[in-house]
Amino acid sequence: MNILLATSEAVPFAKTGGLADVCGALPSELARLGHQPVLILPAYRKTRYCGLPIEPLNIDFIVPIGSKMVTGHLLQSRLPDGDVPVYLIQQDQYFDRDNLYSVDGKDYIDNCERFVFFCRAAMEAIRLLDLKVDVLHANDWQTGLMPAYLQLEYRGVPRYERIATLFTIHNMAYQGQFWHWDMLLSGLDWKHFNWHEMEFHGKLNLLKTGLVYADAISTVSPRYAQEIQNHPLGCGLEGVLQQRRDVLSGILNGVSYAEWDPANDPHLARNYSLKSVAEGKAACKQALQKELKLPAKPRVPLIGFVGRLIDQKGIDLLAEVVQSWLQEGEAQWVVLGMGEAKYHRLFETLAERFPKKLAVRLEFSNPLAHRIQAGADMFLEPSRFEPCGLSQLYSLKYGTVPVVRATGGLADTITSATGSAPDAPPANGFSFQEYSALAMNETLRRACEAYGQPEIWGRLIATGMGQDWSWSRSARQYVELYRTTMSRTRRTVPV
Ligand code: ADP
Repeated sequence: MNILLATSEAVPFAKTGGLADVCGALPSELARLGHQPVLILPAYRKTRYCGLPIEPLNIDFIVPIGSKMVTGHLLQSRLPDGDVPVYLIQQDQYFDRDNLYSVDGKDYIDNCERFVFFCRAAMEAIRLLDLKVDVLHANDWQTGLMPAYLQLEYRGVPRYERIATLFTIHNMAYQGQFWHWDMLLSGLDWKHFNWHEMEFHGKLNLLKTGLVYADAISTVSPRYAQEIQNHPLGCGLEGVLQQRRDVLSGILNGVSYAEWDPANDPHLARNYSLKSVAEGKAACKQALQKELKLPAKPRVPLIGFVGRLIDQKGIDLLAEVVQSWLQEGEAQWVVLGMGEAKYHRLFETLAERFPKKLAVRLEFSNPLAHRIQAGADMFLEPSRFEPCGLSQLYSLKYGTVPVVRATGGLADTITSATGSAPDAPPANGFSFQEYSALAMNETLRRACEAYGQPEIWGRLIATGMGQDWSWSRSARQYVELYRTTMSRTRRTVPV
C-alpha cells in the first residue's frame, strides 16, 4: 500500500508535541510491515539542523495563495531508522523562522496563509514527484485543507482520483480557526463557507474542514474517539463528529521502545529489566533523590510528574493535592515541566517551603524525564482530558505505577487496581473518574497503601512491564484502517 503521510511536524525534523512522535515513528513501522510510506512536511529553520542529510531536488513549483502566486521548492531526506523517503516543502518566507507556529506565546499572524500554502504544495508534490498514493493520511488542522482540495479541485484528475483520505485528530483543542476573509487565501469557492463545511461560528475552521472532507477520521485512542462526540471534549465540533461517527475510530499511539526501555536507557544510574526491577529501581531512586537533593529514603514513596504545566494536564488538581500532602504525609514529590506562569510560581514557592519533600524543575529535560520514570515509584497524570498520553506508557515499561484520571487514552491503557484482589491482572495502575481533588486524594492514598505491601506492588509492576504498547501494534491497526477506507472510497470520476 502507498501511503502519503502529511504533517506539520515529525521527529527528528520538527517537534512541538506528540504529533511529531507519531509521524516520526509510524512510517518506519509501516515500511517494516511491507508498505510504502512517504512523509511530507514543511522545511522549517530547525529542520535544517536536525542532523540528517537534506538534498535539494531542483523541483520548483508555483501555487495560488489568495491573489498571489507563491513559489516553493522540494527537498528530500529520509527517516533515520529505515528507508522511508521524506519530502520537505521549502518556502523561506513562511517557514524559515525561529519557531513552528508562534513566537513569545503568540501565534504567527499568517499561520493560515502558511498552511494553505503547505496543503497546496503537498497536493502538487504528488504530481511533481510522480508519487503513487493509495491513502493520503493527513494530520491535524495544518493539513485539514488537503482532503478538501482532493475532493474539490483534483476530482477526476488522473493519479488523484483513487486516493482515499484519512484525517487524524491529535487534539481537538487546537482547531486552526481564522477570520472569515482568510477563506480567500484557500482559493475555494465562498459557497463552501457554510456551517456544513468550512465555517464555524463565522470563522474559517481548518480542523472542521478536514473532518468534513476526509473519507475516514481517526483519533489517538478509542476512548477519546467517543468523548469528542460530546460536550465539552468535542470543543464545539461534537455535532460534526456525531454526524461522521460511522467513519470515526481511535487507534492508540505506540511507544518507541528503542528510546524508552530501562534495559538499555543511557540516562539511568542502573539499567534493569523485569527480572532485576527491584534492585534496578532502588538504585535509580537513590540516584534521583541525590540529584534532586531529596533525603535518601528508600521506603518512602517517590511520586513523579512530567508534562506541560497547563490546565489540560490537571495541574490545578495536582497543585491542590500536593499542597495538602506536603503538610501531612511523608511522601516525596518531583515535578518536571514548563507551562503557565501561575503554576511556575506556585510550584517554586512550594519547593522553597518544603525542600525535603518536593523537588521542582521548570525546564524541558529529556534525560531527567527518563530518570524520573525510572526513579519514581508512582507517576501522576490527573489530566482533564488526554487524547492518548505517552508518559503512562513509559511508566508501565519502567515499573513505575501510574496514577491517572480515567479519560481518553489514560482510560484505555490503565486498568485500575480495585477491590479485594488489587494486583490481579490486568490491573496495572490506579485511576479515578471524577475530576476532583477528593477523588485524586483517595486514589493516591490507595496507591500508597498498596506500595506498603511489596507483594501486591510487585505484581502491579510485573503486569505493567509485561505489556506491549509498541508502535508495531498500532501500525497494524492503521494498515487495517487504511484498507477499510480504501475499500469504502469509490470516487466517482465525472465525464
Ligand atoms: P502532550 O503531547 O499532550 O504533551 P504526551 O503525554 O502525549 O503529552 O507526551 C508528552 C511527552 O513530552 C512525553 O514524552 C514527556 O516525557 C515529554 N515532556 C513533557 N514535558 C517535559 C519536560 N518538561 N521535560 C522533558 N520531557 C517532557
